Amino acid sequence: MNQKRPAPRSGILDIAAYVPGRSKAAADVRLHKMSSNESPLGPSPAAAAAYRAAAVDLASYPDGAATVLRQAIGDAFGLNRDRILCGAGSDEILNLIAQGYISHGDEAIHTSHGFLIYPIAIRAAGGTPVVAAETALTANVDTILAKVSDRTRVVFLANPNNPTGTYLPFDEVRRLHAGLPDQTLLVLDAAYAEYVRRNDYESGIELAATANNVVMTRTFSKIHGLAGLRIGWCYAPDAVIDVLNRIRGPFNVSSPAIAAGAAALGDRAHLDKAVDHNETWLPRLTEAIEALGLTVTPSAANFLLVHFPDTPGATAADADAFLVERGIVARRLEAYGLPNALRISIGTDAANAAFLAALSAFRAKERSPRDR
Ligand SMILES: *Cc1c(COP(=O)(O)O)cnc(C)c1O
Repeated sequence: MNQKRPAPRSGILDIAAYVPGRSKAAADVRLHKMSSNESPLGPSPAAAAAYRAAAVDLASYPDGAATVLRQAIGDAFGLNRDRILCGAGSDEILNLIAQGYISHGDEAIHTSHGFLIYPIAIRAAGGTPVVAAETALTANVDTILAKVSDRTRVVFLANPNNPTGTYLPFDEVRRLHAGLPDQTLLVLDAAYAEYVRRNDYESGIELAATANNVVMTRTFSKIHGLAGLRIGWCYAPDAVIDVLNRIRGPFNVSSPAIAAGAAALGDRAHLDKAVDHNETWLPRLTEAIEALGLTVTPSAANFLLVHFPDTPGATAADADAFLVERGIVARRLEAYGLPNALRISIGTDAANAAFLAALSAFRAKERSPRDR
């Protein structure tokens, strides 16, 4: 038989496909999915209603310019809607940026525990990912700047970062931007911006508004509880918007997504509720986990990075297996180079309580005299 077949572009087969957080646990227990940082409150009822209303006209193509959604975003954030571009999740936008700005042989930088989509998007565009070391699981401006070469086209920075939950104060982001060449695009991925309650944090709107080489990306998948609909957006200089518009699918955001996203932005009370829920549980869970003798990386987002010892029986993998049996689905982080940690998303009151009970049972088992 002829063994010849179409070959993908060089580099494509070096990509390790993104493996999403699991969504299944033991069959007979109540499931608490705490593996993908989705909102425990779900979407605004107004967003769900707008989604259902959009179902009456599924035969027509959506508005390719997503006008209603861009207008709602512009109104909510006080932004020029001509400089907003919407996508099927911010993942699509991150990929469009890579395709638009990275050629074969070019480099793009991300940090050592940066979001996994970055190396995938960089490689898919034919580029080479360059990894900048973090300090205490936090992006380090100096190591990033030290990796810049004349082939660096893009720097991807999630702020706060997933899966670490750490963030860079905005004066550090400004210092990063000031140190980059004008030809290097700085992508500030602010997927968790709404959750951050720190005086020294900014999402990057102003920098994207004033600099020629800064893009800020946002998503409806996290605090808006609309991950299933795939809606993201970016705010960028005109020239960048022009590039992304040339290469995106002409109807990349569906009409139910456009309608639901716009309605979500109108429900300020729902957003406040989601922030309050997170504000209540982030410190509470952190303290409770630390009281069990585990280390938690301080998080500015809606999830916690929990570190386990490598003692047999007490590891992250052991904890994960124990939790899954009790219906708690956490995120394993081998692919992120953090095999001794689990990421746990802030869940509903019931999920958080079930998680704490299960984790505490796991730790008690580990520390019982029988096992010593
Ligand atoms: C969840 C997440 C996103 C959002 O992806 P969508 O495609 O919009 O669902 C983007 N960046 C980071 C760092 C994330 O954790």
